[in-house]
Amino acid sequence: MGTVIKNGTIITAGDTVQADLLIDGEQIALIGRNLPVEGHEVIDATGKLLLPGGIDVHTHLELPFGGTLSSDDFFTGQRAAAFGGTTSHIDFAIQPKGGSLKEGVDIWHKKAEGKACIDYGFHVAITDLRPEVMDEIPALIDEGIPSIKLFMAYKGVLQVDDTTLFRSMAKAGEHGMLTMVHAENGDVIAELTAAALARGETAPIYHAKTRPSIVEGEATGRAVALAGVAGAPLYVVHMTCVEALEQLALGRARGFPVMGETCTQYMFIFEEDLGKPGFEGAKYVCSPPMRTPEDAEALWGALADGALQVVSTDHCPFWFEGGVAGRLPGKELGKVSFDKIPNGVPGIEDRMAVMWRHGVNGGHFSANRFVELMSTNPAKIFGLYPRKGTLAVGSDADIVIWDPEKSHTISAKTHHMNTDYNIYEGMTVQGWPDRVLLRGRTIVDGDRWLGSEGSGHFLHRCPHAAVI
Ligand SMILES: [Zn+2]
Repeated sequence: MGTVIKNGTIITAGDTVQADLLIDGEQIALIGRNLPVEGHEVIDATGKLLLPGGIDVHTHLELPFGGTLSSDDFFTGQRAAAFGGTTSHIDFAIQPKGGSLKEGVDIWHKKAEGKACIDYGFHVAITDLRPEVMDEIPALIDEGIPSIKLFMAYKGVLQVDDTTLFRSMAKAGEHGMLTMVHAENGDVIAELTAAALARGETAPIYHAKTRPSIVEGEATGRAVALAGVAGAPLYVVHMTCVEALEQLALGRARGFPVMGETCTQYMFIFEEDLGKPGFEGAKYVCSPPMRTPEDAEALWGALADGALQVVSTDHCPFWFEGGVAGRLPGKELGKVSFDKIPNGVPGIEDRMAVMWRHGVNGGHFSANRFVELMSTNPAKIFGLYPRKGTLAVGSDADIVIWDPEKSHTISAKTHHMNTDYNIYEGMTVQGWPDRVLLRGRTIVDGDRWLGSEGSGHFLHRCPHAAVI
């Protein structure tokens, strides 16, 4: 017995078609008009859209940071993702200092073990690039991990110099792997931060003031140039501003294999939010920092015209009032000064709905482009396509039955993320998942959770993925 989803409108990156869809086991078996239903479970999707499950390629579950851990683990974070229509994500396995890349991968597998309830993969974030670690990069392919991440910021902690960046990018490229970079000039940020602290400027707003957009633009331009010289594919994570977009566009115009993502929060939250009274601004502290409404307009344009390829979340939640009632320490760690605030914001649950609201309902792009940014491009760039990222015969039956009429007001009171605030608090969205299927099985039905811990699969991803 299979499942037939009848009378819905199937939306992929390329097409909008009214058709029925037959699921056999975990895959899509048939798409067509008036499919026979005899012997099958039937789901009526009249008036609804069928979207491929969302893929969030940038998340941090249970991440050690600044003396605490991000507050969502692999169960709570993945369940929240599912409620928002995301059925796969890629998290960052962090190399322990002094350890190997493989050790980082093993640590992250343990975090997910027995908890995962959607499908997930890992990138490896390299924190200590000794020569023997460089040689370990190609071996990640056997682990199903064809992407690495390097940091041009966090001086003295994670930051690598240009020689290291260039060598590792070239090495990864040689083996069909993708290099991701956090592009901010960490040397300049360290100077600006020390100067601000010396002046007694400790409030959350100075997190943004000490990381100006030009510093992101400069590092983006440098990474893009190095990728061009190395002839190696590059993916710039969490791009936020005009200066960075210009550098990526220049690289792409030169034919360099470079791509970029932005994250949901940069479209809706701005630098001025960090200046809210008291300690409130700490809720919005992440790196790079929030920018201006003009930058957000440029990002919307870049998503619409193809200059940017992906929207992710960089989901990295912390409690606003942590350290009490059994909670891990959180943002309050930074009350003493902005540089002690754990960096990160929650968002894995809200990505699809807020981007639909402003992107599709707001007229920035089509529903097809929405699917491309949220699911198809992430799958193509990160070696998951066409198993994930589309609705086609043979693809995994990761399906969001999306109700474009349904309104929902976002609130920490009702969200499923393990944190006490929501950066979109009070925002009313129109368009919300009615039902979410993971490999053919319903895991979310309206407000009901039907998934189970341990049922999520690790995604062994392929190298030599597309450069889009
Ligand atoms: Zn991140």
